[in-house]
Amino acid sequence: MVVAKFGGSSLADASQVQKVLRIVSEDRDRKVVVVSAPGKRDKADQKVTDLLIHCATAQIAGQDPTPGLMALLERYRSLIAGLGLDKAVYEQIEADLSGRLASYGAVGAGGGGGLRNIEFLDLMKAAGEDNCAKLVAAYFTSQGLPAVYIDPRAAGFLLSDNFGDAHVLPETYRNLAAALGGIKETIVFPGFFGCTRSGKVITFSRGGSDVTGSVLAAALDAGLYENFTDVDHVFSVDPGLVSDPLPIPELTYREMRELSYAGFKVYHEDALVPVFNKGIPVRIKNTNNPAAPGTAILPSRVLSDDRPVTGISAADGFVSINISKLLMNIEIGFGRKVLEIVEDEKISFEHMPSGIDNISVILKESAAPPEVERRIVERLKNELDVGEVTVRHDLALVMLVGEGMLNTVGTTARASGALARAKINIEIINQGASEVSLMFGVDKKDASEAVRSLYHEFFEQRTQGA
Ligand code: ASP
Repeated sequence: MVVAKFGGSSLADASQVQKVLRIVSEDRDRKVVVVSAPGKRDKADQKVTDLLIHCATAQIAGQDPTPGLMALLERYRSLIAGLGLDKAVYEQIEADLSGRLASYGAVGAGGGGGLRNIEFLDLMKAAGEDNCAKLVAAYFTSQGLPAVYIDPRAAGFLLSDNFGDAHVLPETYRNLAAALGGIKETIVFPGFFGCTRSGKVITFSRGGSDVTGSVLAAALDAGLYENFTDVDHVFSVDPGLVSDPLPIPELTYREMRELSYAGFKVYHEDALVPVFNKGIPVRIKNTNNPAAPGTAILPSRVLSDDRPVTGISAADGFVSINISKLLMNIEIGFGRKVLEIVEDEKISFEHMPSGIDNISVILKESAAPPEVERRIVERLKNELDVGEVTVRHDLALVMLVGEGMLNTVGTTARASGALARAKINIEIINQGASEVSLMFGVDKKDASEAVRSLYHEFFEQRTQGA
């Protein structure tokens, strides 16, 4: 059994949805179809999820959400017309969107007893996937492929209470297996959202339909999780930075996890764990070119001798809090106390490179707004009696990722040599014991050039015989 997830560009208009039907009909193992909300039809277009966010924020701000609602209805109207679907499908979607908007309007911002703003925002965001799934199920059935829409709430797709960034609760797997196990028709399941234990609609972070597909694959013990998007494969580097980069035919879960962490957008960072736990292979494929083999994400792979590095990525938006204290290395419990201060702010740390008399805690800037950062620095100074605490903003992390690095001598030397030749100052170097990645902290303005110079070193030099 295969779970096939289709991203927003695969559902952007009627001709794309027709391709989805063709792909699903071609292989009867594709029993579960997970859909995103319709994406952009062209560069100037807007994703349905973004339209929903505009509509919701207008409502929250006390402005008229009608223009946003009209734009949304127009997207669904043209899909329904292009697919030759019944008017009733449109009416159902119209009623659904108006109902969601009204659930806020009746109460007003901050009003007692009604939806809080963040809850309302998630309820609105979820409408993109939810209505798309209803539409796709109706279309499949109309074309002779019996399909059922499944409501994630009814199927027990339970998520933690973090609105806009929820995580799967353990009982969800059991619930889904019980709810979906006996269904004979093709299942069309909306991605991106579930509900809290108290029944409120709640979403993952953006791009979270990948996570839905992965959870379903794990819950139903799928043999394969296919993730259909609009590229033939995962590239070894962002094609926006390097022209015509090498494709990656296969990569391991660990490699994908590291690359997604630092900016590879093709597969959501949180979508690896569910399939990883069950050892289910993932294949990234192109809806517009389904014959292309795509990229496989596997528990392990055969390593090639000549290429220690599989991919290179970079992400900015990090901040490093640097702590110096003489004789830190012999002070028992120092690291724990530093992390406790970070923990008290309810944020997780990303990395923690250290020397004998200094330690840095790297955080996401989005997780540590100025007042949080100030509190952390003050407590470090007051409670841990440290000599100096400095804060480095605008930090980018560049990741060199590859299982092959473990068995290759000299990767770090080659990488730092390449960065030196590009005149890029390396502020931090970090390599975990697993040696699947090598991380460089550089100034945000140098990140793109760093990626290009590393790509040149590890991917172009060898192929040119240099
Ligand atoms: N529609 C949502 C987004 O645009 C989720 C997804 O597509 O996976 O982020």
